[in-house]
Amino acid sequence: MKLKILILPGDGIGVEVTREAVKVLRQVSNVYGHELDLSEGLLGGVAIQQTGTPFPDRTRELALAADATLLGAVGLPEFDNAPPEKRPERGLLGIRKALGVYANLRPVRSYRALLDSSPLKNHLVDGADLVIVRELTGGLYYGTPRGISGSGAEERAVNTMTYTRPEIDRVAHMAFQLARGRRKHVTSVDKSNVLENSQLWRRVVVEVARDYPDVTLDHILVDNCAMQLVLNPKRFDIVLTENLFGDILSDEGAVLAGSIGMLPSASLGAQKSSGARTGLYEPVHGSAPDIAGQNKANPLGAIGSVAAMLEYSFGLIEEARALNAAIEKVLDSGRTTADLKPHGKPAATSEVGDAICELVTKAYAVAEGN
Ligand code: NAD
Repeated sequence: MKLKILILPGDGIGVEVTREAVKVLRQVSNVYGHELDLSEGLLGGVAIQQTGTPFPDRTRELALAADATLLGAVGLPEFDNAPPEKRPERGLLGIRKALGVYANLRPVRSYRALLDSSPLKNHLVDGADLVIVRELTGGLYYGTPRGISGSGAEERAVNTMTYTRPEIDRVAHMAFQLARGRRKHVTSVDKSNVLENSQLWRRVVVEVARDYPDVTLDHILVDNCAMQLVLNPKRFDIVLTENLFGDILSDEGAVLAGSIGMLPSASLGAQKSSGARTGLYEPVHGSAPDIAGQNKANPLGAIGSVAAMLEYSFGLIEEARALNAAIEKVLDSGRTTADLKPHGKPAATSEVGDAICELVTKAYAVAEGN
């Protein structure tokens, strides 16, 4: 298969973790016989430095021409006091909008080797494996009217939570389709006891569910969901929710994995004419200026994002599984970066990338009987 991918390393540790993710992507393609067509572009602080804007037109063109985009992280301290349109983070909003990615997926799973890194009790986290599907382009973050008006005692602020039926419909379909490849259960999160928005959300999700009789559906109010995520995370398979609730719940879900450096994410849009699904893949963490340039960032969130890309954009399930298995093995072996508090000397970013490449190659050779 031909994999046409845009690489956007971005800033800080984004550059280091992306280097390892690309190394792994090359190795997987090599081993499984796929053809890679890679391009590289600028986004974030580095793009401002070189072109004056965080999301240059050239990057937009490259992103639209690619089937999938792999992003490191953006953000540089020198832009901390810059106006919003001159900040690296503006590049993220720009590329998400340009690609029309309307669903954000955050796979959250616990790893045996990291159980002690989670603040939750081992028996609660052990075996947790869920995906939060968050609607990404609607709701309170985009609704109008919005703004602050008046002054003194008359000053008031307004935001508008708005959803249309098609916006809910398409993200719900995505959640049910994903559930079919997993444990076939969707939990839809809303606040339908108070918000009309949530009442429409629930009604449309119930209607979409009729197309997927093999998938079970339940509903949970967002406040209870926040509690259940830490009391009983294993009860969840796919968690489907709107933009604001998803933003909050996905950060809560992040604690299950033990370190922010472990977490991948995928933002998905429509199917392209090539058959691939438009996707933007990035680790959840930021550019971590405190450790940038030291070869000690954990690259596993970025490498997990490659696994997500292989699965969701290209349908390469076997390759994705092999990569996730390699991540698990590296964790078991203890050859991990300092953030995971290994018993011995911490591994460097590049050593973790090398270890994953070795494991993928070995596992393939064993499977093929070589
Ligand atoms: P951060 O995620 O960059 O760092 C938070 C803490 O986690 C730091 O102590 C950092 O060293 C550690 N950390 C993060 N990723 C790690 C990894 N892979 N391995 C080991 N340790 C890791 O968040 P922050 O400090 O709040 O933000 C720094 C910059 O990143 C800011 O400019 C912010 O706007 C930007 N940011 C970008 C994104 C993105 O590109 N998607 C996301 C969040 C923050």
